[in-house]
This record gives sequence, C-alpha cells and structure tokens, in this order.
Amino acid sequence: MNRDPLAVWLADVVRTAGYAGADEFVREHDLRPYRLRQLYHAAVKEFQDDPSAVSTLPKALRATLARRGLRLSSVEPVALQRSGDGQTTKGLFRLHDGNAIESVLMEHLGNRTTVCISSQAGCAFACQFCATGQGGFSRNLRGVEIFDQARFFAAQLAQRGRRVTNVVFMGMGEPFHNYEAVMGAVALLNDPHGFGLGHRHITISTVGLVDNIDAFTREAVQVNLAISLHAPTDELRSRLMPVNRRYPLQALMQACERYVKATRRKIFFEYVMLAGVNDDDSCAKALAKLMRGPLYHINLIPYNATPDGPFAATPDARIWKFAAILDEAGVPVTVRQNMGRDITAACGQLQAETQPKTHRVASAAH
Ligand code: SAH
Repeated sequence: MNRDPLAVWLADVVRTAGYAGADEFVREHDLRPYRLRQLYHAAVKEFQDDPSAVSTLPKALRATLARRGLRLSSVEPVALQRSGDGQTTKGLFRLHDGNAIESVLMEHLGNRTTVCISSQAGCAFACQFCATGQGGFSRNLRGVEIFDQARFFAAQLAQRGRRVTNVVFMGMGEPFHNYEAVMGAVALLNDPHGFGLGHRHITISTVGLVDNIDAFTREAVQVNLAISLHAPTDELRSRLMPVNRRYPLQALMQACERYVKATRRKIFFEYVMLAGVNDDDSCAKALAKLMRGPLYHINLIPYNATPDGPFAATPDARIWKFAAILDEAGVPVTVRQNMGRDITAACGQLQAETQPKTHRVASAAH
C-alpha cells in the first residue's frame, strides 16, 4: 500500500468529491505536481477547507475546483460542545454520505493538548460496557476522514496560538479493524512536510486483534500501542469483550511479547474499572501475574456509565486499592484522569446520535 502522505490525502479527498481517483483528477484539471503540493499545503498547514480560498492557485482553477464540489475537508462539524471547565470539547462531524462521528479535544494544564479520534463510524466489536460498541457498526472511515478530525481541532487551536501535541485512536471504532486507513492517517499526521506530529505523540488503542498487532509490530514505527484488556481471565474477558473468543488472552499476550521483543517499546494496557465485575483483589492479583513483561504499563480507567447499561463505576477508594495491589507486585500503574464527563465526551461515551440506522457485523465479533 502506498502511504505517501500526499498520495493518501489526494486519493481520499478527490474520491469524496466524486472523482474516480487521483489520476482522473490530475488529468481533468491538467495539474502539475507543484499544484498538488499547494493544495495539500493549504489543507494540512493552513487548515483551509475551501479550494476557492487557496491564494496560491490561479483564479480560474480555484473556480473550477469549487464548481466540481472539491472540498479540502472530509468532515463537517455539525455540533461542538464544551465542558463546564472549558478543558474538553466534543465535536460531532458529518461525513459526505451522512454518517456521523465524534471526536474530542482535551486541553490539559500546560501546553499539552490531546485529540481523541474515531477510526470507524460505529464499531463491530460489541464490548458490553461501551456506548459505541452497543450501537453497532456502520462503516470504515477513509484515512483522510480520520486525519481531518485532528486537522479540525488543530485549526481551532491555531486561532489561539496553540497546536495539537498528541493524538489518540480512542474514539469510535476499532483502529486495527480498519488497518490500512489508520496507517494512512498516521502517515498524514506524521508528515514532516505537512501536519508534522511525531510518531511518539500518537497512540493506537486496540481490542486486541492479534494478526494486526503482528502487522503493526512489523511496521517498526514509533507509534505507541495500547491494548484494551479489561479482564485478567478468559471467562470474564469473553463475557465483557466478545473478541476474546477469537483471540483469547494467551494469544493476545504472546503477540504483546513479540511486539516488545521486536520494538523494545512499552505497551499500555487499559483496564476499565467495573464495580463488582473486574475490580476485586483477586482480579488485581491475576492481572499482576499477566503483566510479567518488563515494558508493560497498566492504565486504570474510571468507568463512564452508558445509558441503560448494566454496569456501574468502581468507587475511587477501590480503584486506589486495586492500583496498590498492582504497585506492590511491581507493575507500573496509573489511574486515568477523567475529562469531559458532563458533555458525555469521556472514554467510551462517544455515540453519534444522529447516525443513520446501523447494523452489526457479527463475524467480526466471534
Ligand atoms: N476500539 C479501541 C479504541 C476505542 S475505545 C479499543 O477498544 O481499544 C478507547 C478505550 O475506552 C478502550 O480501552 C475502551 O475499552 C474504553 N472504554 C469503552 N467504553 C468505556 C466507558 N464507558 N468508560 C470508560 N472507558 C471505556
């Protein structure tokens, strides 16, 4: 697959406007490579959405591109919600075909900002505690639709003299179920001649698709890997995450070992704390046993209740007790700070309510 950032960007952007592909686009408008670079630059460095505003292009070309319906943005913001403390902004975006996705900007103290982006409209994996998972799968996003969520918030931040410093693939969808588009988006985020975000500032989070963890291991990129673990035994994990029936813990942990061995990079394991389900001392001890690898780090996530769901959040005191057991066993552990709860923009709460009717892809959840 070609992951040249300009090529990824151009192919996706022109298809969205109804061209058959980049070749047809280039031929129809008789474009030289430097014109394509000007367009790309306008989108990813100047955050322009409309080709008629790209001042480096000749007037006639601008008018033609606008008439042909070319947009430099593939996601259209339809609603923005800001949390009470102003630190979290949730965006609801519409895609060209009417599907909707959400992403979240977090402005931490200091200069750090994180954008949490979606890789699919909906999700096929049906994790029992996750709002997106309960809504079913709609479709894969294209690389540029993934990238444009970060670009949108970068444009907002630029108006205040700030920039995006971190991107996490922890919005809607399963990134490794849309592998090529996600890696295309990573290329766009990382492009030193474009958006320019370092690999180490990007984190991909997966339910644990072993084949693509292996593919990712072979990429040898410096992008961070996070694994949604959530349970230390197959019995419990299969109940919470149907994907565990296809890729049980042993297979998953072996893939993690291969990753660490090949890359010498840390893995973050996410563990959402569900009251009375996975949060007792015996779970903590079993989890500590699984975390024998030297570069394993546990991130405990306070649960954000989903509407009508059967789960409740573990009380803080229990989370800290659980963390203490891991700590005593020598496992590096942190408790995730919660942001954006008041606007349902916290982990696992993203669900585009205006989304057209979705269907579930059962095969992906075996
Ligand atoms: N599909 C990917 C990325 C999406 S979710 C994955 O599963 O890793 C990002 C993280 O939020 C995952 O660890 C997910 O399990 C967790 N999560 C889902 N629902 C949640 C909720 N209601 N409260 C807290 N975390 C949740």
